[in-house]
Amino acid sequence: ELEVALKVVIVGNGGVGKSSMIQRYCKGTFTRDYKKTIGVDFLERQIEVDGEDVRLMLWDTAGQEEFDAITKAYYRGAQACVLAFSTTDRDSFEAAHSWKLKVENECGEIPTVIVQNKIDLMDHSVVNPEEAELLARALGCKLIRASVKEDVNVAAVFRHLAARCLQE
Ligand code: GDP
Ligand code: MG
Repeated sequence: ELEVALKVVIVGNGGVGKSSMIQRYCKGTFTRDYKKTIGVDFLERQIEVDGEDVRLMLWDTAGQEEFDAITKAYYRGAQACVLAFSTTDRDSFEAAHSWKLKVENECGEIPTVIVQNKIDLMDHSVVNPEEAELLARALGCKLIRASVKEDVNVAAVFRHLAARCLQE
């Protein structure tokens, strides 16, 4: 039987929870300090979408996002994208636009979900809900609010992307 493999890139400012999201989804764990395993470019998880087996390869950055130095190899062949910002980091929200452009430049138009992470910290939010929805509309993407820490909506992000990719 045919198996679909999808390369998914996870972008966004440092500290928004990208590595944690990958670890949560692929290993089912959450820690305060996630250290990228040296020599591993991505983690994977297999799911079933509409009766089809989909192997998702989630590519992590090595923390170089702060230096605007993510390599071409990171983006090469990516078929879907998670663009993450944090509920408690205004800069990460405001950087979303440029992350979208960067991905578009490297990958063209690929299915993208905007993830507002850390909604467990909603009491300390620096982004109001309307702004987040406006951003998503402006970028033409679905917005999903998630907490990697509490495992809220993480699987939904990847299910949505996989379904979108299968439709294309
Ligand atoms: P990255 O730089 O985008 O890869 O971010 P990390 O995955 O390294 O996460 C940065 C910090 O945010 C870590 O201390 C994580 O434990 C924490 N973190 C990640 N997701 C959540 C979340 O949903 N809620 C809370 N409260 N903390 C989170
Ligand atoms: Mg990281």
